[in-house]
Amino acid sequence: MTRCAYPLMFEKSKPGRRAYDLPALDVPAQKNLLPQALRSAANPNLPELSEVDVVRHFVGLSRRNYGVDNGFYPLGSCTMKYNPKIDEEVGVLFAQLHPLADADCIGGAVDLMLHLQEALCEVSGFDAFTLQPAAGAHGEYTGLTLIKAYHDHRGDTARNVIIVPDAAHGTNPASAALAGFKIREILSAPDGGVDLDALRAAMGPDVAGFMLTNPNTLGLFDKNIAQITQIVHDGGGLCYYDGANFNAIMGVVRPGDMGFDVMHINLHKTFSTPHGGGGPGSGPVGCTKALIPFLPTPQVVREGEHGRLDYDRPLSVGKVKAFFGNFSIIARAYAYILSLGGEGLKEASENAVLNANYIFHHLKGTYGIAHDRICMHECILTPGELEEYGVHTSDIAKALIDFGYHPPTIYFPLIVHEAMMIEPCESESRETLDAFITAMKEIAALAKADPERMHKMPLTTPVGRPDEVAAARNPIVKYEWQ
Ligand SMILES: *Cc1c(COP(=O)(O)O)cnc(C)c1O
Repeated sequence: MTRCAYPLMFEKSKPGRRAYDLPALDVPAQKNLLPQALRSAANPNLPELSEVDVVRHFVGLSRRNYGVDNGFYPLGSCTMKYNPKIDEEVGVLFAQLHPLADADCIGGAVDLMLHLQEALCEVSGFDAFTLQPAAGAHGEYTGLTLIKAYHDHRGDTARNVIIVPDAAHGTNPASAALAGFKIREILSAPDGGVDLDALRAAMGPDVAGFMLTNPNTLGLFDKNIAQITQIVHDGGGLCYYDGANFNAIMGVVRPGDMGFDVMHINLHKTFSTPHGGGGPGSGPVGCTKALIPFLPTPQVVREGEHGRLDYDRPLSVGKVKAFFGNFSIIARAYAYILSLGGEGLKEASENAVLNANYIFHHLKGTYGIAHDRICMHECILTPGELEEYGVHTSDIAKALIDFGYHPPTIYFPLIVHEAMMIEPCESESRETLDAFITAMKEIAALAKADPERMHKMPLTTPVGRPDEVAAARNPIVKYEWQ
């Protein structure tokens, strides 16, 4: 019998204990109003607790959670920035709209979608956006179906390959496969960017497109970006920009200007919704004029001063999400953009990049590195010489928990041995960054002085080191009643 480290409400239950008290009946009791066939034989097994038990149970659970409201959360590639609470309020306000409300009654919401689409066009350099996709990977899938529809419509049906560099995010090849393409992987150049010769060699009449994660998973901006899109276009392919990490480039460069045809943006990273929280996301897809006819239906279009829902789209790939996407996430993103303004978005990106380089600069003498280059919004470190003491990336990540920090993303990207991917975000002060740098240096010193202790950390949490293999291979997802 496996017991949780934190007792379930059922385990705290005491027969007869109650959190409510109803007045005595002053009307005749009605029994058995439901037909026998619809009634269960026994009462449901519910925990019996007092109000204070319930409050302490949930508050206790919440205090075992670590979120960006507790502290620094440098989880690379997830952009766990602090988001202003006013954006949350706006999201909650709009969450009250009924998804089946008549189009005539939701003019304000349609206008909001129009304005957000237009703002995203402006920061990305594209001609149109759909807000339907529910996540980054869903945006990739949607964008790739646009690429497929484009080639098919021209009768160019032999193009069934998508080229993906090995420094791409893992969702890129997965989405391409789901959209029905074959994947052709190319290896990165020694500087961490796309190898232009490898790209040229991979081109051919079967290539439908090329996907670039930029900044890539090494946190690096590709220096040859204009040449890359040129090579792909010369070969008849389209260029997909994975803009999940748009936080690095807002107001500085635009994928549309670099020659890309389609991209997605993760609203739940850059635009005021945390990633990695398990909640809803939103991955709007932008494209050039040539791809607009294929965008999902309905598309919000401008008609004079207002937005209109356009359902008359014969070439559309159809619907990719119920209703209009995750609307409260869309509302939060719009509130964020309005409150920061164009200059504010640019400043956010500049500070995100500055903060990552600050950490990289102060820790690269203590830890190993993959590429000694200016990074974008995140940097990659490795244990370096600490490996000689038998200390690995996972030990450093676990030790950070005892120091009060959420660990960075680890063992990703796969192309860097023992990678730690650190993304501080723009919302952190210099004091916070300095404290984190000090903790990382103390951990490095501890690794040399007492590697055995490092192998046992974290020592301050209810659960220390779960057996991760058993947890993945043999998960117990069902409570075993006694
Ligand atoms: C987060 C991320 C994705 C996937 O986004 P999801 O919303 O988690 O599906 C894709 N590409 C990159 C580069 C990312 O960082």
